[in-house]
Amino acid sequence: MVETKRDILSLTLSEVKEFLEKNNEKAFRVAQVYEWLWKKHCKSFDDMSNVSKPLRELLNTHFFIQSAKPENVQISKDKTIKLAFRLFDNSLVEGVLIPSEDRATACISSQVGCNLGCEFCATGKLGLRRNLSIGEIYHQVVELMLLAKEKYNLSLTNIVLMGMGEPLLNYDNVLKAIEMIGSEKGLGMSPQRVTLSTVGLPRMIKKLADDNIKFNLAVSLHSANEKKRTDFMPVNERNSLESLKEALIYFNKKTGQRITFEYLLMNGINDSIADAKELAEYCKSFPVKINIIEFNSTGNPKFNKSSAKSVDAFVSFLKSRNLVVNVRRSRGQDIDAACGQLAGKNAK
Ligand code: SAH
Ligand code: SF4
Repeated sequence: MVETKRDILSLTLSEVKEFLEKNNEKAFRVAQVYEWLWKKHCKSFDDMSNVSKPLRELLNTHFFIQSAKPENVQISKDKTIKLAFRLFDNSLVEGVLIPSEDRATACISSQVGCNLGCEFCATGKLGLRRNLSIGEIYHQVVELMLLAKEKYNLSLTNIVLMGMGEPLLNYDNVLKAIEMIGSEKGLGMSPQRVTLSTVGLPRMIKKLADDNIKFNLAVSLHSANEKKRTDFMPVNERNSLESLKEALIYFNKKTGQRITFEYLLMNGINDSIADAKELAEYCKSFPVKINIIEFNSTGNPKFNKSSAKSVDAFVSFLKSRNLVVNVRRSRGQDIDAACGQLAGKNAK
């Protein structure tokens, strides 16, 4: 009898090798099986057409493949696509494909829900159900990549971990998934095309630096004022802006990377010139790029998007301080696919 089945995508290459050797399989089978799992991203052992039937059956008795099954496709009038994934335990997560003329960005989830409770975020209202596995993260990218080809004849150019969940609270699985996305044995995409967005957890940011990561780091700052930030991002209470700054200085020193700040502009909350001044001050300690994000409604009447006039004044101020600023237009709002709107409405 076999003990409980394991997710084969959680095994390293040497663990796959060990298993196959133990079962007297020839050495070339290792590369063959691994290639099916990652490069050909198969979802069932039955798909492994050049693998012998007995081996497929053996794999089937010991393992399962924990992937993400696309269930519902919604297409926005701006061409953004939201894809809902059904997981083995019936949970739902969402991924988004954002196409443009010459590029296609996949935005993927790292957890089912999130327990950090940022007040303006729909995912934060769900609480946390669980972390996603390596395969569940990887297969979201695969499905969005296939969709980009199928619908728009585009190759995936960028991947952002900005969907549901806090990626640094699912550290190991997220890093292993990114490793396979980058590996020649996987999707072979350069880590420079991957951006991880975090709420800003100092201890984990230092760990990223120690692990010498090659992908980009974006921090959802949204305010450089300690009290204000704590007001709408409760996580700031135990992870203060001061400690975040210290971690980012460490990160920049170790990796040499510039830090991206995400700054969501909310009317009357964090969009005054005084707020911009505090932000400019905070940015003095390391090289940064600031992405101004348009607020997307999530039903909380306390939060509304800033007027065009405030956005302009805020951006002009930052530019006058010689900061690199981009204003990011929101996409996919009509299908609740925009930042902060992912909440598995499909589940209902
Ligand atoms: N947990 C991570 C990544 C997921 S959230 C993080 O917080 O960074 C991805 C981005 O969407 C974050 O920058 C987040 O602050 C932003 N966001 C959340 N709610 C939003 C909303 N209502 N409108 C626009 N952006 C929002
Ligand atoms: Fe979680 Fe990010 Fe939403 Fe905050 S913004 S609740 S950290 S997903």
